[in-house]
Parts: sequence; C-alpha cells; structure tokens
Amino acid sequence: MSTIVSISTAPGIGGIGIIRMSGEDSFKILDKIFFPKNKQRIEDIKGYSIKYGNIIEDGEIIDEVLVSYFKAPKSYTTENMCEINTHGGNIILKRILEICLKNGAELAEPGEFTKRAFLNGRIDLAQAESVIDVINAKSDREAKSGIKQLEGFLSKEIKDIKKEIMSVLTNIDVTIDYPEYDVPEVEEKQLTTMLDNVEKRLLKLEKSFDNGKIIKDGIQTVIIGKPNAGKSSLLNAILKENRAIVTDIEGTTRDTIEEFVTINGIPLKLVDTAGIREAKDEVEKIGITKSKEEAENADLVIAIFDSSKQLSKEDIEILDIIKNKNVIILLNKSDLNAEIRENDERLLKVTKNILKISALTKEGIEELYDKISEMFNLNKINLDNEVLITNIRHKNIISNAITNIKKAKEQMRLNMPIDIITIYINDVLENLSEITGEFVTEEIINDIFSKFCLGK
Ligand code: GDP
Repeated sequence: MSTIVSISTAPGIGGIGIIRMSGEDSFKILDKIFFPKNKQRIEDIKGYSIKYGNIIEDGEIIDEVLVSYFKAPKSYTTENMCEINTHGGNIILKRILEICLKNGAELAEPGEFTKRAFLNGRIDLAQAESVIDVINAKSDREAKSGIKQLEGFLSKEIKDIKKEIMSVLTNIDVTIDYPEYDVPEVEEKQLTTMLDNVEKRLLKLEKSFDNGKIIKDGIQTVIIGKPNAGKSSLLNAILKENRAIVTDIEGTTRDTIEEFVTINGIPLKLVDTAGIREAKDEVEKIGITKSKEEAENADLVIAIFDSSKQLSKEDIEILDIIKNKNVIILLNKSDLNAEIRENDERLLKVTKNILKISALTKEGIEELYDKISEMFNLNKINLDNEVLITNIRHKNIISNAITNIKKAKEQMRLNMPIDIITIYINDVLENLSEITGEFVTEEIINDIFSKFCLGK
C-alpha cells in the first residue's frame, strides 16, 4: 500500500499541530526531511519513541519538531507510522505536509488511517465505525458508548451469536450432505433451540437501538404553544444553565436551528429553536400548521400553556394536535393565579404528564427533567454491561437477520428439508458479518470511511 500523509489536528491556531504518515516508506520519507538532534539513524530508533529535531528543506529549517515513531505492526494502522508534532498553525503544517508529498507520500483520504487499521485486520468494521462516534460525541454518554464499541463490546456479542449458530450448523453438516434424509430429531431440537436463542439475542440488540439512538442523536424535542405561552422563556431557562451545542441546518425555506444540550445526563435535541425565537417579530408566520409538522417527527413534544389565562381556542387546537404524541404538558406561569388546573379533563384526555412550572422563577424545571428521564427510561441505561446499538446501519442489518431467522423457523414448521432451512441460517451469518466487516461490499466500506474527518 502507498504511504499516506495528512494533517491530523483540526484546522486553526493551536499549541501544536500533528502530521501523520503511514505506509512502508514513512521512515524513508522522514529520513529525507527530518534531522534529529542526536543524529541517530532511523533504523536504530525504536518503535514508541519520540525524537527531537528539525524539519529541513533546501537547507532551511522549517520548524523545530518532535517525531513519534511507531514501527509495524505495532501502530494504529499496523504499518510503519510517524507523527510529526509541529508548532500549531496552518502555515507550518501545510508547508510540512507539502514537503512530505514532494518526497513521495500521497495525501490521505478522510478516514484512510482507520480504514487501513480495518483492512489490515487490527480492528473490525464495527470498531472502526465507533471511532467516528467517539470523535463526534456530543455528550459523555455518547463518548462512552463509542469507546465501548471500540473496545469490541458489540463485536464480541456478534461473534458469540455467530458461534452459537455455527456450533449447531456444523453438527448438521452431515445431514446436508445427504439431503434426502429427514432431519434427525435430536438435531431438529438443537436447531429450534438455537433459532429461538439467537432470535432472542438479536431482538434484544434491535431493541437497544431505542436507547442507542437517544444517546447518539438526543431526544428530538419540540416546544409548542401559542404566542406568549412562554416558549422562549422556557428555552432560555433550559439553555442558559446548560452548555448547548448549536447546529444550523439548511432548510428549504429558511434555516432551522437545532440545539443539543445534555441536562442531568439527558441528551435533548431541541428542534427549530430559531422558530421559537423568531416568533417574537413574526407571530403570523408561526402558525398551528407549523407546530403540527414539527410535532409529527418529534420523540417528545413539550406543550406549554399560559396557566394564568383560561384555555383559548388556540390552546384547544394545540391539544388536538398533540393528543397521540409522546407529550408533556406544562402549565406555565405557576407564579401567577391559576386559571387552568392540572386535573382539567381536557388536558388529562391528552396525557397524564402534566406539570406546573414557572419559566420565570424556574420552579418545576427540575421536575420537568425528571419526567423526561422517566419517560425515556434514561436511568436504566447501563453502558457498562449492556451492548447498545447506536448505528442505523447495524440496526438495519440486525432487523434483516431477524427476518431470516423467522424464515428459517417458518421452513422448519413446514417440515422443509434441512438444506432449505440452512440457506436462511447462512443468510443470518452473512448478515452478521456485515456488521463486523468480513462480508461487506467495497461500496459500503468507502461510504463508511468517507464520513470520517481528514487525518483519522
Ligand atoms: P413565547 O411567545 O411563547 O415565546 O413566550 P415568551 O417566553 O416570550 O413569554 C411571553 C411573556 O410571558 C413574557 O413577557 C415573559 O416574561 C412572560 N413569562 C414567561 N414565562 C413566565 C412565567 O413563568 N411567569 C410569568 N409571570 N411570566 C412569564
């Protein structure tokens, strides 16, 4: 494989910058451009060591650097690798990158270092995919679940399931050689038990995606309510105390803004916060139709009412929109005299999740967080000993595997010959191999790694 090079630190000014090189010729290229202070020859330098010296081109010192050496196979990619620690800053980094290129390295594609770690067999595909999750993590929990997957938590479960299938398959191999015989009773029993067990394990994994998705994407939440109910006051109360990650999303008609915030371990993705803020000047634009659309795709709808006034026609319309949703009703302005009560039948018909709050005094805000945590079972997620699917690709593959298990069971029920049944069981094995990457198309691999950042 060629020798690749890339700037691995984020663009911008920083204390240090790192240029990474991997491939057979890494040290040969390094030898031409790096002059260690102690004049040690490259072949005498041990792996996992750091040398101090200068990067020099045409007699000119470009920068004073530290170079870390990683010798094959003990490196991130399993190839000869080095990392040049330079002074941070775009000019120096780009200059050294160009010098490496001039001396025979090729510019790495996004994710190419991790792709090589996968292709060279150091990590499997699920582990490689988790690297991107760790890098992009927006919360402690998300980072932790990424690290667990990188450690091989998911891969081990997949391998165990495959082992369980294989142990029975090899037993009945003999029968497949003589398909004209019926499946002997003992083997049929083994098969049934195995299929039931595997189905159970896969269903558990599939189900874990409910939590995995929340950990990764946050609970997609919309706040709706008529003008002056207190939407922006609530939003501010939530965001002010909690560091939010704001993401702009190009909309078709106008930009929407999503804010990602973690409160007491609850990851919330607050959708269309721009809409709430704009509402101040453009009341006419934010109509009931808009609320309806937003509520449609949300995991959680927070409907906020001004409890100091009686329920208006608009409030009733909102109640109608949210009646089949996962919803919390907030009776806001609890610091004022109440005109709407928690036991109002019109509210109770929609949900029992009704809380009194004051966005102004913050009374009831903690109870709101507790309620969300309870609704999404967030306290029950245990990342230490629970395998969690966080990746939609994995989730879809597991769903396919479950379908194939069901087909195999159906064939058994119909007393079909063993070789027909094993077709579906082999499909399950193939499905599972797509997760760990033993059985996966180049297109999928390229697609996965194209989402990585440069230098990883
Ligand atoms: P929005 O139009 O739904 O975004 O509502 P705002 O958050 O802008 O609030 C409308 C008005 O109600 C503002 O004057 C707020 O100060 C006031 N308000 C919001 N929440 C409370 C509350 O809990 N108590 C009281 N007394 N006033 C509130």
